Amino acid sequence: MKLAKRVSTLSPSTTLEITAKAKDLKDAGHDVIGLGAGEPDFNTPAHILEAAKDAMEKGFTKYTPSGGLPALKKEIINKLQHDQRITYLPSEIIVCIGAKHALYTLFQVILDKGDEVIIPTPYWVSYPEQVKLAEGVPVYVEGKEENQFKITVEQLKQSITPKTKALVINSPSNPTGMIYTKEELLELGKVCLENDILIVSDEIYEKLLYDGNKHFSIAELSPELKEQTIIINGVSKSHSMTGWRIGYAAGNQMIISAMTNLASHSTSNPTSISQYATIAAYQGPQDEVEMMRKAFESRLNIIFEKLNKIPGFHCLKPQGAFYLFPKAIDAAKMAGFNDVDSFVKALLEEEKVALVPGSGFGANDYVRLSYATSLDLLEKAVERIANYMAKVAIK
Ligand code: PMP
Ligand code: GLU
Repeated sequence: MKLAKRVSTLSPSTTLEITAKAKDLKDAGHDVIGLGAGEPDFNTPAHILEAAKDAMEKGFTKYTPSGGLPALKKEIINKLQHDQRITYLPSEIIVCIGAKHALYTLFQVILDKGDEVIIPTPYWVSYPEQVKLAEGVPVYVEGKEENQFKITVEQLKQSITPKTKALVINSPSNPTGMIYTKEELLELGKVCLENDILIVSDEIYEKLLYDGNKHFSIAELSPELKEQTIIINGVSKSHSMTGWRIGYAAGNQMIISAMTNLASHSTSNPTSISQYATIAAYQGPQDEVEMMRKAFESRLNIIFEKLNKIPGFHCLKPQGAFYLFPKAIDAAKMAGFNDVDSFVKALLEEEKVALVPGSGFGANDYVRLSYATSLDLLEKAVERIANYMAKVAIK
């Protein structure tokens, strides 16, 4: 049996693979600290759990409309109105099985073979694979560290060809934590409008901003940009609901309708119980969202300083999300390795600290640490890395 060509070069998600590996080692009795997983370590707020139980007891355990429950769409519309000041119709919203599935479905309905999607590097692991699965071509544009890992408008202009279909913007970014300013978004947006490039705006880390930084959705900057943008968001990161698998896409009706048709043949609908839980997440108090954000910020402030002091590590201060993305090639070389991948492997084997190598994000010289774990473990992990570097320095 031969597999389809479509999946012949498909690699597993680096982030999920490392997370699974760390978990296996832990289950086998090893004292592993996993800083691979990009998921909040808090439990889902209690009122959301209650809503799910309630939904089950009331028998809301059946199929729902493919695009999502009307009551949930209404909450998403209210959220977008409240947070982004944009008005959407229910026909401009689709509820999906996480933001990941919203992105996957979107690329399936907008790309024809050979269509290009501009993906700034460092990128979140799944964008290129999802584009390729839709027979599209990822076009990488390097977000340079000296420009806070963001692409410039000149770089965007240079990467456009007659085949360019879409641009992915992920702000705050996974893995760098950087955010685009309103002015930068306006400049990029203008070029997308001039060239009829669809903007895919992944805003999953919207609620996780530090140092008083503010999130802007490119879609809120003008009515034309609203039309040109598909917003991707969800409750995984904001409400600590990664396992519930609820995300959404908001934008152009024709695109949303095609996505809904595709979902009707592929998934039928996102889990009914999760949808009811998400209604409660949006309707209920948001104080736990803020409590989690504050916890991430205080961890960031402590761990950022400590990591930057380790020889061979150099890190910009993230403005959002929950990742540190230091340059680690110097540390790798000091430890006798030619690349960060081998260094990360050694850290896992010898120090039992799981990190994600930058190669998964299109930035080979870097490494990603998630600080969505307790301060205690974070401090221990950084100590282990520091000890390792001290050991190799003596050798
Ligand atoms: N986009 C980015 C940038 C992410 O980091 C993630 C994390 N999984 C997703 C999308 C997908 O999130 P979800 O859990 O809602 O599928
Ligand atoms: N978004 C998280 C991460 O980047 C979860 C894993 C995934 O969905 O790939 O680690």
